[in-house]
Amino acid sequence: MAVRVGIVGWRGMVGSVLLQRMQQEDDFAHIQPRFFSTSQVGAAAPAGALPLASASDLEALGECAVVLSCQGGEWTSATHPRLRQAGWRGYWIDAASSLRMHDDAVIVLDPVNGALIEQALDRGIRNFIGGNCTVSLMMLALGGLLREDLVEWVSAMTYQAASGAGAQNMRELLAQMGVAHQAAAALLGDPQAPILAIDERVSQALRSAQLPREHFGVSLAGSLIPWIAEDLGNGMSKEEWKGDAECNKILGRAPGASNRIPVESLCVRIGAMRCHAQALTIKLRRDLGLADIESLLASGNAWVRLIPNTRAASVAALSPVHVAGTLDIVVGRVRKLAVGPGFISAFTVGDQLLWGAAEPLRRMLRILLPRLALV
Ligand code: NAP
Repeated sequence: MAVRVGIVGWRGMVGSVLLQRMQQEDDFAHIQPRFFSTSQVGAAAPAGALPLASASDLEALGECAVVLSCQGGEWTSATHPRLRQAGWRGYWIDAASSLRMHDDAVIVLDPVNGALIEQALDRGIRNFIGGNCTVSLMMLALGGLLREDLVEWVSAMTYQAASGAGAQNMRELLAQMGVAHQAAAALLGDPQAPILAIDERVSQALRSAQLPREHFGVSLAGSLIPWIAEDLGNGMSKEEWKGDAECNKILGRAPGASNRIPVESLCVRIGAMRCHAQALTIKLRRDLGLADIESLLASGNAWVRLIPNTRAASVAALSPVHVAGTLDIVVGRVRKLAVGPGFISAFTVGDQLLWGAAEPLRRMLRILLPRLALV
């Protein structure tokens, strides 16, 4: 009999992308899905004959061998401990960050840490959590260098899309862009109109009290936001903290271990829709030739695409618009830096809803299924 998988949070942004990918990869042929909701209990489910079950129904959740959630941290924190306390020994796969740093949880990114995931399953670990989108995308891009343990440290300057803040933020970005265009539309129709007059109208509109800013608080359109997530009070944002903490956890390098890779970040929100980009400065443990570095990067995994470091190729391929909606992890602008031996630059772009959120989760489910079939 097929494994029963409880799917929670499938209606949200990450959950919708997850369902799309599960359909594309025929994952539903291998499971018996049971869909849950926090708000629409009893309504029709997206597949199967059963209506939506309540996401607070511990008994129904407890009947699932796997719970796959994109519902969010609040629901995870309220539900996971109670389900475990009730004796449930199923597998918990989750997009939310709540359990990521727990000792009994593994952050899943199987093209990078597939061996660690298998070892954890052998040890009886039952919580498998998707990583922060920016961290996962960076590690996939650098997979070839990480595999050879060539990275001594990384400094990441990020350019993160609106989708990372949620669906409402994507809508707000577009509304702000509309306001900016509207403010200048009449002048734009006149080829003789002075550019400074156009700029002044746009600037006024983006600063005006009428600008939709309920979600971002400020204008992202025509601008940027140099802080993402909570202020940790030490000059660092929570997003920046995750760069180091999660990268090392994904690699299985515990706090205090001598082989940790320091990752420093400065995380910035920009007006892209769903792809995060990152400019990386990397210190290698050994000074390799450029051709060797490129060939290692290109061989990192099946999704990484090395883009030649030319103007034409970079402009064409190394952009959020080019990558959006694909599983490609593009990496380019690779060159050796004049600051010293072993220093290189790289620029990478990936879709934060696919490899940054949904894809590692559905792949974890597929890793798990053969083991469950043996039970
Ligand atoms: P989301 O779009 O806000 O969806 C979460 C839930 O909100 C849905 O499952 C749905 O639950 C409910 N909901 C209420 N009104 C809705 C509407 N009009 N349309 C759709 N759903 C609605 O959340 P998300 O951005 O996908 O994030 C889910 C989790 O993934 C979070 O823990 C987040 O931190 C994590 N994550 C997000 C990203 C990202 O880029 N956004 C990346 C990595 C991880 P009901 O059906 O039960 O009402």
